[in-house]
Amino acid sequence: MGRLFDLEDSGYFYTRLANPTVDAVAAQICNLEGGVGAILTASGQAANLFAVINIAGVGDHIIAANNIYGGTFNLLGVTLPKLGIGITFLKAEASDEEIQSAIQPNTKLVFGETISNPGVEVFDIERWAAVAHRNGLPLVIDNTFATPVLCRPFEWGADIVTHSTTKYIDGHGVSVGGALVDSGNFPWDAYPERFPGLTTPDASYHGLTYTKQFGKAAYIVKATTHLMRDLGSIQSPQNAFYLHLGLQTLHLRIKRHSESALQVARWLEKCPDVAWVRYPGLESDPHHALAQKYVPDGCSGVLCFGLKGGRTFDNRFLDALRLTTIETHVADCHTCVLHPASHTHRQLSDEQLRAAGIAPDLIRFSVGLEAPEDIIADLEQALAAAKA
Ligand SMILES: *Cc1c(COP(=O)(O)O)cnc(C)c1O
Repeated sequence: MGRLFDLEDSGYFYTRLANPTVDAVAAQICNLEGGVGAILTASGQAANLFAVINIAGVGDHIIAANNIYGGTFNLLGVTLPKLGIGITFLKAEASDEEIQSAIQPNTKLVFGETISNPGVEVFDIERWAAVAHRNGLPLVIDNTFATPVLCRPFEWGADIVTHSTTKYIDGHGVSVGGALVDSGNFPWDAYPERFPGLTTPDASYHGLTYTKQFGKAAYIVKATTHLMRDLGSIQSPQNAFYLHLGLQTLHLRIKRHSESALQVARWLEKCPDVAWVRYPGLESDPHHALAQKYVPDGCSGVLCFGLKGGRTFDNRFLDALRLTTIETHVADCHTCVLHPASHTHRQLSDEQLRAAGIAPDLIRFSVGLEAPEDIIADLEQALAAAKA
């Protein structure tokens, strides 16, 4: 037991730090991503929190793309600043020079989403990684929508990957969870002053130094032994068991989600009631070229669109959907829909919505595993009902 507590032996002695079921599933996600180590967290929020505070603290600064998931936007933009971690949000299209000029001496990492939620924009991982690495910074990528089946961010230079496993990896809406995966590629030791938590002795473990003792796995071992020990956000073993079931079919599901979503997007594009459609798999989409590079086998099941009829029409349409359910959840085997202006962001005016980067008419549509003809038929009848 003493050797376990000194991190001299590895083994299981308390589930808050490590559990064999959780580790087995974490290892599968780690293998899919091509990393050196991974941990499962209680939620996607916990994974992104850990990804940042494993290497950033009071007085530090981070950079993130401004099109990221709303929950992460709040975590990084409101809650972490209260803990003393400053942030600069940049457009995902920011030029190399704009990214460069946002980097400060106290900047610790750069953050983006492979396919953003809800705008479904594809992040130029390789370009951002190059600027980050020139400045001695790791790139953290939230790979939730793409999943490692469609994109492996480490192959494009990302250093750390996070997931909300609640979405496609589980896929059936049965377990909230997250994952944090370490590529093992970032040379922490080359920047000892920037990452002292990894490169100098840890007093809470008898002065061991993570990079010395654990080499390529320094980051993920610190996240486990330090953050998991102290903050306690491990995924429950029962949720990891459910996640394991989801993983068995992820490669089949995500392919079907992507094929059906492209079919639905093509139908929406031709529909006279639809003002605009965004799905990176469409040739007309501004992110199509990036999609061909990063997610050539499919762009997941999530798309978004706007209707021409205005907000009352939007609400009549949403209420008339029958197969599709209105849900906060997304990226699930069942088709579901969300209108941020009427649901998650209903306290904001149209002006405030635009300032937050959300078009007031944006409808996020998550294409499930039902027959695509049935999904299209549901859209068709709901539009007809909204017009009646
Ligand atoms: C849902 C989501 C999260 C947060 O995950 P939870 O499991 O709900 O905590 C983070 N990032 C993305 C891209 C998401 O879609």
